[in-house]
Order: sequence, then C-alpha cells, then structure tokens
Amino acid sequence: MTRRIAFVDLHAQHQPLRAALDRAIGEVVAGGQFILGPQVAAFEQRFAAYCGARHAIGVGNGMDALRLALMALDVRGGDEVILPANTYVATALAVSAVGAVPVLVDCDPRTYNLDPRGLERAVTPRTRVIMPVHLTGQAADMDAVMAVAERRGLHVIEDAAQAHGAAWRGRRCGSIGAVGCFSFYPSKNLGAFGDAGMAVTNDDALARRLAQLRNYGQSQKYEHVAAGLNSRLDSLQAAVLAVKLPHLDRWNEARVSRAARYRAALRGVGDLRLQEIAPGATSVYHLFVVETEHRDRLRRHLADAGIDTGVHYPVPIHLQPAYAAGYRMGQFPHTEALARRSLSLPMFPELRDDQVDAVAAAIRRFFDPAAPSAARTPDLATEGARPR
Ligand SMILES: *Cc1c(COP(=O)(O)O)cnc(C)c1O
Repeated sequence: MTRRIAFVDLHAQHQPLRAALDRAIGEVVAGGQFILGPQVAAFEQRFAAYCGARHAIGVGNGMDALRLALMALDVRGGDEVILPANTYVATALAVSAVGAVPVLVDCDPRTYNLDPRGLERAVTPRTRVIMPVHLTGQAADMDAVMAVAERRGLHVIEDAAQAHGAAWRGRRCGSIGAVGCFSFYPSKNLGAFGDAGMAVTNDDALARRLAQLRNYGQSQKYEHVAAGLNSRLDSLQAAVLAVKLPHLDRWNEARVSRAARYRAALRGVGDLRLQEIAPGATSVYHLFVVETEHRDRLRRHLADAGIDTGVHYPVPIHLQPAYAAGYRMGQFPHTEALARRSLSLPMFPELRDDQVDAVAAAIRRFFDPAAPSAARTPDLATEGARPR
C-alpha cells in the first residue's frame, strides 16, 4: 500500500523551517506587543517591496482586505462593483458587506478569469469599482480591466488572494490597481498559522486611510475619524509570514515546474481540458485544474487510488442561497460548466515528481484501464509544457 498523495501538505513546508519559526514566535512572546507590533511593520515593508508597491497594510484576513479597500474608496449602499462570477464567494461577500451590489461577469473558458468582453457591458451609472480576481494563481487581463476603468472613471481593486508573486506583463499582481488584496489563509501560496491578510497600494492617501480603517478608524489614540473595523494583522502571524516570505519565489517556481510536468503527462488524455495561461500572464499555480465531463467519477477513482483532489468551486456565487434572488441558472454558462467539470489535482511546492507521475498515471488508467500503472517520464521539452 503506497502512501496517500495529499492535496496540500503544510507539514512538509513547515518542517524544515521549524527552528526559524519557533525562534520568531519566541521573539514575539518575549517582546509582548501582540497587536500591530514591530513584526507587523517589518513584514508590511517587506511584503510591499515583494509586490513592487509603496505601501502594505496588514489586516485580519483576505476578505477584510477587500472590504477595507472598498471602504477606503468610499464605496457604499447602492453602488455597484463588477467582479467575476467565477471566484471564491468571499470576493462577493466583501462587496455585500459594505452594502454595495456585486455585479457578476462570466469567465473566459480558457483562462477561467474574468472575460473582458463582458466587462464594458456590465458598467452602469452606479458602477464604482472593478474587482478582477487572479484566480488559481494566474494574473487576470489587467490591460483590459485598466482600459475600461480609465474610460469609465472607475477604481480597480485586485483580489490577489490566490496570486502572491504572479505577474501581468512583468508587474506583480496586487500592484496594478488602486489597491491589491491578499489572503494569508494557511493553504494559500504564502500562508500564516491562522487568519491574516494584506492590502497593498501605491497611493499615499489610500494607505493612510486603510491604516485608520483597519484600526477602529483611528487617526491617533481616542480620535476616530472614520467608522472603521477591528481588522489588524497580529504580530505572531506577521513573524511567521516574515520567516516564510523569503522562500515564496522558490515555492512558486516549484509549483510551476510541477504544473509543467502535469501538462506534459496529461495532454491528449481522455476528454481532459487544461487551463490556458494567457499571453502576458504568469501563474503561480495556487491550483492545478483539469476539466472533464466525468469529473465526479474521476474524483472517486483518484480517491480510491489514494489521491486527494478538490473542486474549486462546486456551486457558483449566483447559485448560492445567499445570492439566489436576482440570478438564475444558465446566466453564466462558462462558470457553471467549470463548477460541473473542474477538478483540482494535488499541488504544493513539496509535491514530488514521482507523485505527479503517479497522479497522471492514475488519471490515464481512468480513461484507459489498459494504460500502464508505472508512469513513463514525460518529455518536458514538448510544446505547451513550459509556463510563460
Ligand atoms: C481565500 C480567498 C479570499 C478570502 O481570503 P480569507 O483570508 O479567507 O478571508 C478571497 N478571494 C479569493 C479569490 C480567495 O481565494
């Protein structure tokens, strides 16, 4: 019996860093400044530099980063915010949380990201913000988003919760719009030991406002200039994230290399379709997604072979009970097709080549029971295997 292949293995990531992590946590305990301590300011500075942005403001989680960005731009009740139908529900919930209306746009079936062709049509006189999502780790088409935003006088807030380190035409995700929002949920490409998030911006005034809004709208102690939130990054999380950040590029490169190996091994297998990476975009492969009409049966077959998989996301936002009013089935066909067809394969930096080969071999056996169980090492030099 071989060992199970996990979907994500955080233990494998943290084990080699244990001494450094324990030391960093010990320093916070010794220092005793647990909220917005020196570790937070230090990590904010390093993360801003990593993104190529002037400012980073540590917050409680990724959804709060989005919510605070909307508040900083004075988005309020009755305003409309355009976002992709194909995203995690938190993107829409952040909009609803400020009383604004999420307006959904279908995805491009090749990249899974917001389809720019639907963008302009969704703009109304009430639209204030476009909120692209760099889903699965691939940068959305920011040229198209910024062009519509400029033409129609709208702000752009990037949901980069799955895309730490990805880039659009050489610029890091999160640094292109007015505010970029990150989550450090433990299983994200850069993950904390609990909830944590970050808003990055190049705008000095917005940075000041975000820093107030996350801390009770406070300009100085007991002076509250805005109706803010309590959503601060705590020092323990910042200390953990500062230990992990220097490894992020290496981890992302490992993900890209595993993705290339999957692609080479899975091209032309059964009815599988693989996500395309758009010209101009890079992906840091938060997820590696395949599509098939036989998704549920393939998922069971892999589970029986000891391989864990995920589905991102089985029920689109517009078909969730929370958003049922105003939407109907069939409205966003590409998003609905992905909900039915997509399967996320094991993907994390420590995933080994032989494990990728074992997953690919199990998938080939599903489509062709006569296929050999020992995987042939795929030829990585073939076209399409290399990430752009
Ligand atoms: C994880 C995620 C969020 C929310 O982040 P939290 O830290 O869990 O609040 C928002 N948007 C996307 C696309 C995500 O993947």
